[in-house]
Amino acid sequence: MKPNLLDLFIGLNEAQLTAVTADPSRPIQIVAGPGTGKTRVLTSRVAFLILEKKIPPSKIIVTTFTKKAANEMVERLTAMLSPFEVPVSELFIGTFHSICIRLLRRYHGKCGLRPDFGVADETDTKSVMKHTCPDLGEKERAKARGYISKLKAQGITPDAYRAIPRHSAEIASVYTMYDSYLESHGLLDFDDILLYGLRLARDNGKCLDFVRHVLVDEFQDTNKVQLDLLFALGDRSTKFQHNVTVVGDPDQSIYGFRSADPASFRSMAKRYENLHQVNLNTNYRSTASILNVSEAIMGHQTAKRTSKSLRSICSVKIPVVHSKHRTNNDEARWISDQISMLKAMPHLFEYSDVAILLRSRFLSRVVEQELMKKKIPYHLVQGQAFWDLKVVRSMLDYLRVVSSDLDVLAFSRTINFPARKVGAVSLEKLLSQFQSSVGFNNVGVSDMLIGVIEGTGIKLGSGVVSGLKEYLSLIQQCREDISVAENPLDGVLAAFDRIARTTDLANCVREEKSKRSKRELRDDELPENDLEELRNQIREFEPAEEILEDLKTETEQSFLDSFLESIHFYSAEKEEAQTKVTISTIHAAKGLEWPIVFVPGLTMGVFPNYNAFKADEDEEFTVPKGDENAIDEEVRCFYVAATRSQRLLMLSSFERRAIDSETSLEVSPLLKGLGKMEPKLDTLDLGIRKLLYEAMTKKFQSVSDEERQLLEAIGGAAIVGSGITTALYAPMNAPREVSGLSGRFKRKFEGQEGQRNL
Ligand code: ATP
Ligand code: MG
Repeated sequence: MKPNLLDLFIGLNEAQLTAVTADPSRPIQIVAGPGTGKTRVLTSRVAFLILEKKIPPSKIIVTTFTKKAANEMVERLTAMLSPFEVPVSELFIGTFHSICIRLLRRYHGKCGLRPDFGVADETDTKSVMKHTCPDLGEKERAKARGYISKLKAQGITPDAYRAIPRHSAEIASVYTMYDSYLESHGLLDFDDILLYGLRLARDNGKCLDFVRHVLVDEFQDTNKVQLDLLFALGDRSTKFQHNVTVVGDPDQSIYGFRSADPASFRSMAKRYENLHQVNLNTNYRSTASILNVSEAIMGHQTAKRTSKSLRSICSVKIPVVHSKHRTNNDEARWISDQISMLKAMPHLFEYSDVAILLRSRFLSRVVEQELMKKKIPYHLVQGQAFWDLKVVRSMLDYLRVVSSDLDVLAFSRTINFPARKVGAVSLEKLLSQFQSSVGFNNVGVSDMLIGVIEGTGIKLGSGVVSGLKEYLSLIQQCREDISVAENPLDGVLAAFDRIARTTDLANCVREEKSKRSKRELRDDELPENDLEELRNQIREFEPAEEILEDLKTETEQSFLDSFLESIHFYSAEKEEAQTKVTISTIHAAKGLEWPIVFVPGLTMGVFPNYNAFKADEDEEFTVPKGDENAIDEEVRCFYVAATRSQRLLMLSSFERRAIDSETSLEVSPLLKGLGKMEPKLDTLDLGIRKLLYEAMTKKFQSVSDEERQLLEAIGGAAIVGSGITTALYAPMNAPREVSGLSGRFKRKFEGQEGQRNL
């Protein structure tokens, strides 16, 4: 049967359908609350533009907030569009950064960039700051770096900053030094990537005339440069002017520290007179109780806000839990107990249905410990932890040197790790030699080392020279491994193995670590496992097809380069396994949803964190003047966390930190006025079961005979025994979802589920 476009849109409500099929020559802004289907509308609109408006996928740009979101969108579009034989891989889907990188690699010449420009990630920029302002302390450098980033996000160059009457001479000079270092080393930091993207679109936009439509998810978190870029791209085509679709929710703006500006919605309305605005207000994600609590959370916001009238389609009422604990360790134990309890219910609940969302990354340590004790498998989304591991960073640095002879930062971090007698003084000499020669005749790291070894370059002690020889030979052999291999992956893996073997990296790191912590490392801390994990990441890495195409034709970027590039941005997003509990920062959980969400640490000073609220003896909390923005950001952050939950929202607080049991802390003021919450799940149990049972039985009319039998089979004992979990998955309205439910049951009854991960 011939596929029909309309089939794709079955189930969308009227407002969603209006947004999806709106006239593409008019800019459209969809402003709506969480779970109202904004992302779903955006995806459907892409399908509409391609199928109905005949815009080729290669002319459509979609920006998402994370790589994970991009992958999900590609998956969904592939499912939708494959019957129509649409080449989904030709779409430009990714974060603003990754899209800019692709455009800049393609059109580097048009904006004065060298073809092999490098990307400086956070660790690199830290090194650059250290190098350019050695006199500043670490904290001061971090502060200055943050400030520079803010200036860049607003498009303010060092010169423009100097022209501001009340500028700080010190910042101006640090900014200038930092920028010239990047420039002379052919490096772009994350802010530069956007700035160059914008420059390309503004000054040489002709090459971007192919763009017909730009769609933006999570619009509330765009900063000024991204907004200007969006406008510039949108304006390119004269024929299809104002071809932009954005979706977002001002209440979920949580990237103020990256200069995101929720006023973007207004700027857009100002810019486009004919802006089409659509509102969505049916929430398909959460129970009414969760929505009520969320709306009450937003009541804390000091800034003006239009209240939302979101309607939940879920009639099952499950109260939100708020549980108080003496210490953060007790709290973590409680979380792991709850998860074990839920998991113990007959096979209806999977670990992957649970997320623990944290205000700050450091909170994860205690939670992780408790989960490990109970053998609950988990993974950290904000895997900074993984990518920041010394062994991982070192291996990546070695690979970076192998990949680029100009990567002097990676060189300086690896040359003496493991120790090769190249001390700080020798390194300094090498670096200044590099700096003075690289700009002029493109001398790379290996040329410089050869010079020193052959006695034509700077003079260094014989011990140092033999260390350099060893290093150079390793790098050269790795390059050889890559060039002789039959396919790029094998080559990179061979180089990887050689580095691991020759440097004995895992052992070095292990020794260093146990020396520092003065104890044996636990199993989950062993560097060899992390190294193996990194190797797996490389094996699983697949450069997007269209990138490969670009690479073949435009530049000679290799497999290794594109792998290294991909982790610059996506390091924080290791793919999660299906059966693990997710631990994530709230920031990294944007746009996602889980049936059960824990938000721990709702304690004064933790969430909200002290930077935003200051405790005061007389009052519950006082608002330091001028800090309203910070408070509002905390409020919105809590709102984002709460609205990730589909069924069970489990909030918790602790009174004191286990390590500082003297100081007692207040319960978070963010919890005030949220209505009645239950202290624990058990007491709700009976009431909920009854409600859930009713909810379940109502659906009996719409299920097949087979499903009915399965449900009845677990009915008597199991529905009561696992009432909560059953209903967590209970379909809300759609019969379609009932069959999903039966799949779960089927697996259980056919014995395919098994015990995993334990
Ligand atoms: P957020 O603000 O958190 O990003 P969102 O507005 O983007 O949320 P989606 O993630 O698109 O919301 O949708 C939330 C959930 O509701 C998803 O599981 C989605 O599949 C479902 N959903 C959206 N629209 C419908 C619909 N018309 N019928 C049934 N389910 C829907
Ligand atoms: Mg979304």
